[in-house]
This record gives sequence, C-alpha cells and structure tokens, in this order.
Amino acid sequence: MKCSFFNREGVQALNPNVTLDATGAVHYLQDAALAPGAFVAALLSHAHAAGLKIKSRIEITDARRSGNHIQSLVAGGRHFAADEFVIAGGVWTARLLTRTGIDLPMQPGKGYSLTLDNPPEMPSVCSILSEAHIALTPMGRSLRVAGTMEVGTWDMKVRDGRVRGILRRRQRFFPKLEPKLFEGVTPWAGLRPVSPDGLPYIGRRHGTGNLTVATGHAMMGLSLAPVTRRLVGEILEGKQPRPSAQALDAARFSRRR
Ligand SMILES: Cc1cc2nc3c(=O)[nH]c(=O)nc-3n(C[C@H](O)[C@H](O)[C@H](O)COP(=O)(O)OP(=O)(O)OC[C@H]3O[C@@H](n4cnc5c(N)ncnc54)[C@H](O)[C@@H]3O)c2cc1C
Repeated sequence: MKCSFFNREGVQALNPNVTLDATGAVHYLQDAALAPGAFVAALLSHAHAAGLKIKSRIEITDARRSGNHIQSLVAGGRHFAADEFVIAGGVWTARLLTRTGIDLPMQPGKGYSLTLDNPPEMPSVCSILSEAHIALTPMGRSLRVAGTMEVGTWDMKVRDGRVRGILRRRQRFFPKLEPKLFEGVTPWAGLRPVSPDGLPYIGRRHGTGNLTVATGHAMMGLSLAPVTRRLVGEILEGKQPRPSAQALDAARFSRRR
C-alpha cells in the first residue's frame, strides 16, 4: 500500500482544520472512509434495481441437510431452498452453523462508537490513533469516534468507563475536541466476529458441498468486504481457491460432526 510519512508539522498540514497533538503519522494514500448507513442504503437500492429479492428481519433457525448437501434454510416456518448458500452471519455464524453440523470457533469482540454532529473542529482525513486504539472518521458533517475490544462479552450493555476511556484517550491527540462535547451523544455498541487467530473464515467447509462461509473479519469487516466478495464469487464459480486464501480456510480449527 502506498504511504507517506509525516512529522508533526506535516500531519497538522494534512488536517488544517483541527488542533492536533501528534508527533507524526503514516498517511495511507489509498485508504478511504465512508458513512456505513448511507453505504448500505445505496447498496440496497442498487440490489433492488438489479432485481435481487431481499428478505429482511427474518431469523434463520434451522437447516435441512441431505448427506453433505444443504437443501434449505428454515426461517419463520418457511423453507428457503437454493443451489448454493453463503452464510455471513457475523459473530452469530457459529450458532447458525451448529444447525448444519459444523463447528466454527468464534468470540464476540464488543466495541463502541460515538457520533458527534457538527463538531467545532473537523479532521480532513480519517485516522487510527494506534497508541490509543481508537479510530476517528469524518462522515459528512459528523465525526465518529470508535474503539475498545471486549472479547467474549455477548451483552450489549454500554460500560460508561469504557466510553470515558475512548474520549479521554482521543483528547490527547485532538485537545480541542473535549469529552464534554460528547455529553448527550448516545454510544452505540456492536459485536465484531473474532476468530482465534484473528483471520476471517472464507470458504467452503469440507464435507458440505454447497455451503460457503464468509465471516470472522473482526475489526476489518467493512474494509475487507470487496476482497471477501471476490473470494466468495470465485468459490461459487467453482474456481480453484487461491493459495493465498488458504490461511482463511473455514475448517482450520473445526471438526465436522
Ligand atoms: C465499534 C466498531 C467499529 C468498527 N469500525 C470498523 C471500521 O472502521 N472498519 C472496518 O472495516 N470494520 C469496522 N468494524 C468491524 C465491522 O463492523 C465488522 O467486521 C463487520 O460488521 C462484520 O460484518 P459481517 O457482515 O460479517 O457481520 P455483521 O455486520 O455482524 O452482520 C451479520 C448479520 O447477520 C444477521 N444474522 C445473524 N444470525 C442470523 C440468523 N440466524 N438469521 C438471520 N440473520 C442473522 C445479523 O442480524 C446481522 O445483520 C467495527 C466494528 C465495531 C463494533
């Protein structure tokens, strides 16, 4: 990936509209950011326009198998039959797959984000504050701050201490974006799908001829979505898996029942 290295003055010049306290930065020139809500809405409208049928707000509760073949998925008492199935159920994929007889070790990694509308200072580019373990993303007129990784916690409870920690650590780098600006902003919590080695699971599970798994992207699900889509597409087209994708083998930890 192409990158430039900046000293204190350089990183400040890159972000002329904010007061920064950073010794330096690495600028990844091909990096980008987006507003996930707007992105998903646009994706949906493209999918509809392309004639895709989307069933939302239904929970898959079971799978019907015939030998190594998944015949249908069951949701709300209805059976959805298909030639091919791709399971991309985030951290819940492991539970879903138990119904197909497959083990997939996975843990939730809880994180929080706070989105501040019309901040007094707005960075020009998104940044990952490595020492603080925090990401900062401008989204139109809003600024999103995200961080923390609570592994193994399934509850969606927001822990105030964690949220205060995010805001405090961020202020070290952006001193004018004081924590009190975020008073009244409701923190959002989400569960990342985390595999034991931190790598995604992408591929066919041995012994299940028509089921492909795409999950385990932990902190990088959005960033890795295009390459995941390419790998899944190649699997569904029957192409040989790329040698570089072997590390993502969905069967690397599991055994089939
Ligand atoms: C605070 C925070 C900040 C983040 N920031 C970034 C970032 O800057 N960049 C980045 O690349 N990634 C980021 N991530 C990580 C990213 O959000 C995840 O990697 C990504 O969401 C994983 O996508 P997924 O589709 O695999 O799973 P999910 O987004 O979890 O989607 C899984 C879907 O499957 C559905 N589902 C589950 N079980 C069933 C069932 N039985 N029946 C029907 N539907 C079911 C769920 O309802 C859900 O809609 C962040 C995560 C958090 C928590």
